[in-house]
Amino acid sequence: MSVKIATRVRPFNKFEIQQNLPLCIAMDGNRTILFDNNQQKEFEFDYSFWSHDKFEIDEKGYHKPLPNSRYLDQKMIFNTISQDPLNQPFQGQNCCILAFGQQGSGKSYTLLGTNDNQGLIYNFVKEVINQISQNQIIKTKYEVYISMLFIYNESVYDQLSQTDFKKLKVRENALKGVQVENLIKEQVDSIENFELNMKKGVNCIQKFQTMLSIRLSLLHQIFQIEIKETKIVDDQFIEKFNKVNLVDLAWCEKFYQINNSKSQIAKSLSTLGEIICKLIIQSQQQDKKIFTPYRNSQLTRILQETLKQKSKIILIITISPALNNFEQTLCNLRFANQFMKVKNNIICNTNLTE
Ligand code: ADP
Repeated sequence: MSVKIATRVRPFNKFEIQQNLPLCIAMDGNRTILFDNNQQKEFEFDYSFWSHDKFEIDEKGYHKPLPNSRYLDQKMIFNTISQDPLNQPFQGQNCCILAFGQQGSGKSYTLLGTNDNQGLIYNFVKEVINQISQNQIIKTKYEVYISMLFIYNESVYDQLSQTDFKKLKVRENALKGVQVENLIKEQVDSIENFELNMKKGVNCIQKFQTMLSIRLSLLHQIFQIEIKETKIVDDQFIEKFNKVNLVDLAWCEKFYQINNSKSQIAKSLSTLGEIICKLIIQSQQQDKKIFTPYRNSQLTRILQETLKQKSKIILIITISPALNNFEQTLCNLRFANQFMKVKNNIICNTNLTE
């Protein structure tokens, strides 16, 4: 069981450059520092990823660090994160990577990326496909499947389905665990094949967003990878499944306020936070069983399999570098810092709302 908390700061966007907005973020080793003229708040995380400046865009559109700069590009972020939990996708450990932050802070860039700067999802699938091609052993077969879904207002929709937005049911089964009924699972055996599916998924969400005229940040988007291992032992087939969830979390302004009960997003985020804290506490107290309220939100029900004692969990808080977002950034950093405090035994409070 491991929970890692990271922050990542993006470059100034066009608006912030035009308005000449001051920088309010600094990073030093694992520390993320938020400052203005009057104050400075420091937080220590497992990783603080600087992707703000000192990069150039090459002829292919790739964001490339300038010599001697500390800009971390997409590949570097993937390498750092994958060193730990992802590089052994065949070891039966489930993994959950969560990106959290206000709209426009870089969640989608970090997970999906762009054509020229592919994000964690692409890099991870590519790595798994490569490893599989090197790992096909006689009598052991690996297959990779992907699914894409999103949650809006506690309803679950399939992003790979071509029919019009049918709500899917989430069911629990003693044998198979939590299942999203009728969710499409596509087998991917090449990057081209994966990219085709991604396009489908992205188009689907854009269609939904336009249809309802809503902000993308109101949806939780979940990208699932399942690695199936089939072994033949004594003429018997033995199957093993390994799951990875990569999640672009919804965000709403007052998510951290207690009694923000009208907001489903706030509820799902506080449930998620509570579960992560309880898992950390459980792993520290080893034998103690603690109740984890997966059923309180669709998000946590669906992520349940990858939010377990043996899972690897990575939470990436994406932040804006500009001073006009100071207050929101502070709230998000505080949200993330609660997990660090639980990890470091500073607080034992699992209720993350203030
Ligand atoms: P979110 O998903 O949080 O709403 P996006 O990922 O869409 O935000 O990011 C907003 C804009 O900032 C996009 O144009 C994206 O390409 C750019 N961006 C975000 N993070 C980075 C980064 N680390 N490096 C370069 N550009 C970035």
